[in-house]
Amino acid sequence: MTRLATPAIAAPTYTIVVPMFNEAETIPEMHRRMSAMLDGLDGPSELILVNDGSRDNSLALLRGIAARDARVKVLSFSRNFGHQMAITAGIDYARGDAVVVIDADLQDPPEVIPQLATAWRAGAELVYAVRAERKGETWFKKTTAALFYRLIAGMTELKIPADSGDFRLMDRKVVAALKQVREHHRFMRGLSVWVGFKQAAVTYVRNERFAGETKYPLKKMVRFATDGITSFSYVPLQLATTAGFVFAGLALVAIPVVAVLRLIGSDFFYGQATTLISVLILGGIQLIFLGILGEYLGRIYDEVKQRPLYIVSEKIGFNDD
Ligand code: UDP
Ligand code: MG
Repeated sequence: MTRLATPAIAAPTYTIVVPMFNEAETIPEMHRRMSAMLDGLDGPSELILVNDGSRDNSLALLRGIAARDARVKVLSFSRNFGHQMAITAGIDYARGDAVVVIDADLQDPPEVIPQLATAWRAGAELVYAVRAERKGETWFKKTTAALFYRLIAGMTELKIPADSGDFRLMDRKVVAALKQVREHHRFMRGLSVWVGFKQAAVTYVRNERFAGETKYPLKKMVRFATDGITSFSYVPLQLATTAGFVFAGLALVAIPVVAVLRLIGSDFFYGQATTLISVLILGGIQLIFLGILGEYLGRIYDEVKQRPLYIVSEKIGFNDD
């Protein structure tokens, strides 16, 4: 199919990056609302849709949209590399002066983007959208998310605003800095804060998913949370030292206590149960810390291998550069 309009050669002011995995049900509506919003923006724009190895007919729909809308560019991965890699690819290919990352499921309303742009025009270099309210999320998701943000705030120096997702606008400077970070277990919302720059927040109401269900099952959520913590904190590793001191201290205190109890004839510490329980507790704790060591070791191994972060199997609409 031929494209109706030739894309402008000059770099656009805005790039909107949308990662998507099996979002066929929302793609037409997403594109409709996104183009209406882009029409009203105060500058030319490009829309980079990243197909993260979808197994439904997302790619076919994206091809159709790209054929009709000259602003649309499509990056298609060779398989599912994950949300964070899809965002990374979009940012890598973005040419706009300001780059916006937004989910495909319309939970983050595209209509908020002009507000982010206003804050950017006013001088902010990183504008994150903060959820004032989350509609249609499960109790479990809200509680674990709140817990996670508290945990990461306590363990790291990073000031990730609570209740912010990946929905944000970044100035070209932030994007350039972020593009230098090539680590494999990427926690993008942490990294975009880590690079620094002048920040501002815009609050919005997060809606329910337009269609389909979450592409973040519990397993992916746990992996995402571990990546977030391990990439910014050594606290889990240091906990072993604390636990070591605690248990060594307990043992030291126990020696005189047990001796005295024996001397006065008590059989409180007598028997196998005590020994068995303490061996199991300590064995368990040691295995947990071995596991934590493994988490870090595995991540070091992934970095050492130096594999590419993602593999693009198809590019549509990038012929102008
Ligand atoms: N997503 C992706 N790759 C994945 C999982 C999710 O590109 O492996 C996209 C998904 O299509 C959506 C965004 O990441 O645009 C956020 O995912 P989702 O809405 O499922 O997460 P939730 O909002 O439930 O946390
Ligand atoms: Mg969502």
